[in-house]
Amino acid sequence: MSEKGKKKERALLDVVMDLLTRRGFIAQTAEIYGNGLAGFFDFLPNGMQLKRNIEKAWREFFVWSSIDPLVYEIEGSVVLPEEVLVASGHVSSFSDPLVSCSKCKAELRADHLLESQAAMKTEGMTVPQIQDALKKRGIACPECGGALAPVEEFNLMLKTDIGASGNAKRAYLRPETAQSIFCDYKRVYQTMRAQLPFGISQIGPSYRNEISPRQGLIRMRGFTQMEIEFFFDPEAPVHPGYESTRDVKIRLITRDVQRDEKTADDVVEITIGDAMEKGIFPNNIQAYFVGKVFQFYQSIGIPYEALRFRHLLETETPFYSKGNFDLEIKLDMGWKEAVGIAYRTNHDLTTHGKNSGSKLEADVQKPGQKEVRKVVPHVVEPSFGVERALYCVLEHAYRPGIEKGAEKEKESDREWDWFQIQPHVAPFSAMVYPLMKKPELTGKALELFGAIKKAGIPVFYDHAGQIGRRYARADEIGTPYCFTVDYQTAEDGTVTIRERDSMRQIRVPVAECVQVLQSLVGREKEFLDLGTPIN
Ligand code: AMP
Repeated sequence: MSEKGKKKERALLDVVMDLLTRRGFIAQTAEIYGNGLAGFFDFLPNGMQLKRNIEKAWREFFVWSSIDPLVYEIEGSVVLPEEVLVASGHVSSFSDPLVSCSKCKAELRADHLLESQAAMKTEGMTVPQIQDALKKRGIACPECGGALAPVEEFNLMLKTDIGASGNAKRAYLRPETAQSIFCDYKRVYQTMRAQLPFGISQIGPSYRNEISPRQGLIRMRGFTQMEIEFFFDPEAPVHPGYESTRDVKIRLITRDVQRDEKTADDVVEITIGDAMEKGIFPNNIQAYFVGKVFQFYQSIGIPYEALRFRHLLETETPFYSKGNFDLEIKLDMGWKEAVGIAYRTNHDLTTHGKNSGSKLEADVQKPGQKEVRKVVPHVVEPSFGVERALYCVLEHAYRPGIEKGAEKEKESDREWDWFQIQPHVAPFSAMVYPLMKKPELTGKALELFGAIKKAGIPVFYDHAGQIGRRYARADEIGTPYCFTVDYQTAEDGTVTIRERDSMRQIRVPVAECVQVLQSLVGREKEFLDLGTPIN
């Protein structure tokens, strides 16, 4: 069988994860010791840069965008004391259903087992219901066929103890960044002299002791979250930026269609404004975030058709929630949740207020009135996973190469696998090469490399190898533009720029390179309009 056929047969997850490992994006944590630590990955230079770019794009989109009211960014401790997570409910109920095989001792997620072996939908099912369904269908261990032990609730938090053994204090690695935000709410409110509505955001690591994490960057035990808690007065549930999202068209699975098995996955295309008028959203703050999130994922390269929001059913949401919307992204393995947007009312601030004895409130004064009201703010929380976003971007950007010698097809015009990543997200927006490793070329190439770096654009310098191979290496990590300094540079002061997607080349004066690259990354102008095309 041909390489290409083999590639198609393998799950895309394995193909992409394998490329990421071979091309300096990721490594299994501690891989030099046996198989390394399951569920943990280290980010190597190419992956690290890609991750940073996604975080930067997110920050620009959600924290610094101009129409929004203020969003304050914090960085909380990864370790949290037990009382915080008792108050948040994580100690008592942050668990997944675990089932183990009595013969080979394999440990599996019981709900996932039902999904894969019986094609059942398990959202909202309780442990006894899962147990019952496994029994009724006679499901055995998929690894060895052995009998399954009873299903248990397995708490997903990683425990630790702080201090010397006698007085050690029980603590946990935080399972979500949100809890640090609630703990810091009062200080941020006071010291920043914040006024409702406002947001507190955070990008940082979270840890969950996932049962059998087998889906690469999709389900990890240590991952990065980007979260915003958007605080507001429940009597004025208005987002000042809402108008800007009114015309955003989204794909949505409503609660109504999910209630009927026949239509359960049917998507409607609707604008945020129309959905708001139909009463689908509890307020325009949640509507605003749904619109913004949909736009954000398109901006980083996920196609419109591969995105959909699902309005979770009442049975899937906690009692205090007034509505949850999950963004799902289509992958080879199926639709995967990438963002949860939850209207959590004032549940978190109320319980942390009660358990800590702190008053977690805000002052509200209506314009022109003297009276000041104290409120415990309500919150809408969009919660994103960075690595999951990163994987989705890569799977959608993956372009398989053609076999050597095969006729070139339109959609596959080169012999190597490559990534068509958006220029502002790609690990490096540009690569700079001297045509040959000669001082008259390397000097100029290094100068150009320095100028691009100084402009704050991620750029890589590659001095080794034959030029065609260097272009292939650039494509392989998704680099959109390559700059080559050659002998003509000394004569007329121009360099060649090669565009990854079209493989076309233009000549541009060295002095204009930074500006040209900025227009290209910002998608302001067409490539061929920025210089003299080379045939
Ligand atoms: P949750 O708090 O479970 O709603 O998670 C919020 C977001 O974090 C999800 O939409 C994912 O993008 C991400 N996430 C949650 N769990 C994991 C995990 N085990 N590995 C990677 N990303 C995760």
